[in-house]
Amino acid sequence: MSTLIDGKAQAARLREEIGRQVSRLRQHDLITPGLAVILVGEDHASQVYVRNKATQAREAGMASFEYRLADSAPQGKLLDLIERLNHDPEVHGILVQLPLPPQVDETRVIQAIHSDKDIDGFHPLNVGNIATGSSGMVPCTPLGCLMLLKHRLGELSGKRAVVLGRSNIVGKPMASLLLREHCTVTVAHSRTQDLAALCCEADILVAAVGRPGMVKGDWIKPGATVIDVGINRIEVDGRTRLVGDVDFAAVREGAGAITPVPGGVGPMTIACLLLNTLEATCRQHGIPFPDDIMSLAWGGTSSETT
Ligand code: NDP
Repeated sequence: MSTLIDGKAQAARLREEIGRQVSRLRQHDLITPGLAVILVGEDHASQVYVRNKATQAREAGMASFEYRLADSAPQGKLLDLIERLNHDPEVHGILVQLPLPPQVDETRVIQAIHSDKDIDGFHPLNVGNIATGSSGMVPCTPLGCLMLLKHRLGELSGKRAVVLGRSNIVGKPMASLLLREHCTVTVAHSRTQDLAALCCEADILVAAVGRPGMVKGDWIKPGATVIDVGINRIEVDGRTRLVGDVDFAAVREGAGAITPVPGGVGPMTIACLLLNTLEATCRQHGIPFPDDIMSLAWGGTSSETT
């Protein structure tokens, strides 16, 4: 039986430390990190995500600004709001909840956010920075996955990593981050042949495809570390359950360690959003990013149960 990587506990510790640093910033520098979250439309899952992000920002002592636009809002209205927030000194991070309705061009919106305030790390400048190994805002979900991996494995250099999925928000940045850690990385997608054989070679397997239980028990190299990013809603006995992209019960038998869904990557994503907001605040005010939080983020106490 493999070790369970407890993302919930690790995220709670990270949020606690972020809260301490926010309080220090407020008291010593009279700066309150500000997070602006924009939601367009009525999508239920997006509403829940936005509410969680805003609540956790406030709990960490940050200022949270929520903007809700109608599903039919024209693109210009959203771009005007982003432009205003780009110039608002009380806002250090801007997040536009995806997906956006069809009349809005997602790429245009992402490019409109000032790269210094792009705490999601989706702006082309930040994407380029990760790809070239420079410092920049790193997308929250892959950043959270990398922290879980470093806590579990320490040094990642030389490991074989397979990333299932090539989206701009998870798969591609995850691959860049693992490459930066000197892993040998393969990215798989819907056209990849013989996924099972490929996965069997992985010391690290990150699944981000949005297909419930797709990764089977016999796809796993014994002792591998499995990070399940997927969040899929399925009906079981008339009730909605959240499951990952991994067949958890079967994969758990052979893996060395695995993240559960829920309670694995999800909580780390929100904690990393707060971390990015804190980092953006420090950068915008020319304050060094606190060492304490970096060591906790990358090498603190392990969060694992067997
Ligand atoms: P996308 O739909 O944008 O991308 C899915 C990727 O999976 C694509 O690259 C696609 O390939 C690939 N894929 C789909 N089907 C298969 C298949 N049968 N075999 C191999 N590859 C396949 O999804 P996201 O990256 O946005 O999200 C992935 C999952 O992660 C979702 O369940 C989402 O809910 C979850 N998620 C979780 C987060 C968290 O905080 N825990 C945050 C963000 C996402 P192709 O490119 O060829 O189409």
